Amino acid sequence: MSQQGCDIGLIGLGTMGRNFVLNLADHGFSVAVYNRTAEKTKDFMENEVGPRPIQPGYDLPEFIGLLRRPRAIILLVAAGEPVDAVLRELLPLLTPGDLIIDGGNSHFTDTNRRGRFLAGRQLDFMGLGISGGEAGARHGPSLMPGGSREGYDRVLPMLEAAAAQVKGEPCVTYLGPRSAGHYVKMVHNGIEYGLMELIVETYDLFKRGLGLTPAELAPIYDRWNREELNSFLVEITAKIFTRQDDRTGRPLIDLILDKAKQKGTGMWTSWDAMDLQVGTPTIDAAVVMREMSGFKEERQIASLVLAGPSPAFTGDREGAIDRMKNALYASMIATYAQGLALLRKASATYGYGLDLEAVARIWRGGCIIRAALLEDIRTAFKNKADLPNLLLDPRLGQEFLSRAADLREVVQMAAALGLPAPGLMATLSYFDAYRSAELPANLIQAQRDFFGAHTYERLDAPGAFHTEWEEE
Ligand code: NDP
Repeated sequence: MSQQGCDIGLIGLGTMGRNFVLNLADHGFSVAVYNRTAEKTKDFMENEVGPRPIQPGYDLPEFIGLLRRPRAIILLVAAGEPVDAVLRELLPLLTPGDLIIDGGNSHFTDTNRRGRFLAGRQLDFMGLGISGGEAGARHGPSLMPGGSREGYDRVLPMLEAAAAQVKGEPCVTYLGPRSAGHYVKMVHNGIEYGLMELIVETYDLFKRGLGLTPAELAPIYDRWNREELNSFLVEITAKIFTRQDDRTGRPLIDLILDKAKQKGTGMWTSWDAMDLQVGTPTIDAAVVMREMSGFKEERQIASLVLAGPSPAFTGDREGAIDRMKNALYASMIATYAQGLALLRKASATYGYGLDLEAVARIWRGGCIIRAALLEDIRTAFKNKADLPNLLLDPRLGQEFLSRAADLREVVQMAAALGLPAPGLMATLSYFDAYRSAELPANLIQAQRDFFGAHTYERLDAPGAFHTEWEEE
């Protein structure tokens, strides 16, 4: 710690906070810490800190007194009301020029509101998306900062040191004003939902369709992870299939209840995509499937009365495995395409000025959606900064096209076996819709005009037209 006080303060010693503090301290920065429940601070200081330059504050005034001025304080508390509660308590203790950084998964509209409020009190505010979970926070997350540019410049050395590094580049960059950082983090999580759903659909096809066991699945996903599907989520999927339950000796995956939980960030992505009128159907399907997984008891009853085809696959198994790999890779490309198209629209609508090449660059390491594919995505935006959709990048478009037939086959296989694969199916329809110069929306316009006199445009003349449909 310098004579003037700690370099930075952190409030919230939960999973993320504890680990991020240790990460900062390991890079030589002095950190003051505070947690609402003082026993947690005590436990952290006694059992985890060791000789690192970390100072505890057992109440907020003590914590504030430990900080160098102008102060920089990271909040890593539960998202929502707790952030406002902490800000209310902090406010009387702060002085103009201090910087607050909200590192949680706050909704971007809350970040805008808080930024405006704090600016009115001459306080700097940043919304900082942090991805990578516990291990990322500890050893190098992907950091998605937005908000005060001056604030960012002040903490830049700390963020760059703490972030994951890929090929000598830190996975952090200033993304834009106001809630740009939290918005990018939200879409990151939306893409994460989509990718997870696609992977679990291949698992279901393998398990219920091909009858493969976890021991047979592990080497498949492990091989995929060493090929073009190389990614954190495929890597951990392979590892999950190898884990045996300590209590029963059975594969642990077979003992886990099939009800998925969510904290809401995927749903927020879908909501805002609908608000901005950008289609993100793979992400939407992922959110819907988490919800449907929650109806376990209802599904059990329905399974007894609603019959479907036999899920057992009887065709060429090796061929099916290869097709599944290609279908998954193509769908992953399309999921990133949807998320990045949303970011493009959000940037224009909310004035973030996002550099999508930089977004792809900082997602290459530390975060949950890191994948070899992000190098190609980065190159795509490097070649054309205003690329409207990744599918229009010559290289990625070709990667998708060369696998489209396999995606189609896998979707047909799922439908024939009666196995739900809405992520893969929605992805295929997204692709087919995107490449259709003509869609049947002319009939929707006719229907709208029929029942609501909403008018329609014509192909052969400009202007708005209305028809009295019943009289024709
Ligand atoms: P934890 O549940 O582990 O910890 C929550 C922290 O918030 C605790 O320090 C808790 O204090 C504090 N807190 C809760 N309510 C209040 C309140 N009203 N006033 C003051 N402090 C409060 O959360 P995480 O560390 O997992 O998450 C922190 C943030 O980071 C969240 O926004 C989360 O969404 C986000 N995040 C989490 C990731 C993860 O993998 N866990 C990944 C990326 C982002 P106390 O000990 O007193 O209860």
